[in-house]
Parts: sequence; structure tokens; C-alpha cells
Amino acid sequence: MSNMVAPSQTPVWVNETRCKACDICVSLCPAGVLGMRLDPHKVLGKVIEVAHPESCIGCQECELHCPDFAIYVADRKEFKFAKITPEAQERAQQVRSNNFMALHNNTQRK
Ligand code: SF4
Ligand code: SF4
Repeated sequence: MSNMVAPSQTPVWVNETRCKACDICVSLCPAGVLGMRLDPHKVLGKVIEVAHPESCIGCQECELHCPDFAIYVADRKEFKFAKITPEAQERAQQVRSNNFMALHNNTQRK
């Protein structure tokens, strides 16, 4: 699997060079953690972003279903994940309705 070293205190992280922007992980994330952001250097013009790591519940749906092994979830023994909240579920729904593009409160990162 991955040869990436797990960053400390990080629930979920990505290898952007592997991401093919298929949206699968975003569509499966129950907590609205993930979303796509525009990136003109990518073939499809977008790439995965961990927009709300604080909401990650560690379900591993993203890692298990990514066809390109581009996203990784921390070990439960090493990271204390969040509990699912109605707000996170609502955000997940909004991201899906937003064509899988990430939602940010006030800032749009490049
Ligand atoms: S582990 Fe689950 S909650 Fe966390 S980013 Fe992946 S799909 Fe979302
Ligand atoms: S499932 Fe993998 S390849 Fe598809 S958008 Fe997510 S990280 Fe990128």
C-alpha cells in the first residue's frame, strides 16, 4: 500500500500526485471532510482537498474505495477521531449538491 509516512496529529491526508479527481471519496465521506478544489495543473482541473479534518470520524471509506491509493486515514490507536455530528452530515450533503467541490466557511484556498 502506501509508502507515505503518516503525519502526526492528522486524521486523513492525501498524495495529490496520485489523485485522479474521480470524486469517489467525496461521495462516500459521511462527515463532509473532503471536497475537490480547482487546480488548473491537473488533468481534470481539480484535486482532492481535506477541507474539514476536524470532522473526520475515521471510517476509512475514503481510503478503502480510492482506486488510486491517493488518500490515507490514521490508525485508530494513534489518532482520536471526531464523532459524527448533524452539522458534519449536513455539510456532506451540501458538498454532494455542490458538484463535490469543497465548502469553506469564509476562505477559498488556492
Ligand atoms: S475516514 Fe471517513 S470521515 Fe474521514 S475523511 Fe475518510 S470517509 Fe471521511
Ligand atoms: S477517490 Fe482517490 S482518486 Fe478519487 S478523488 Fe478521492 S483521492 Fe482522488
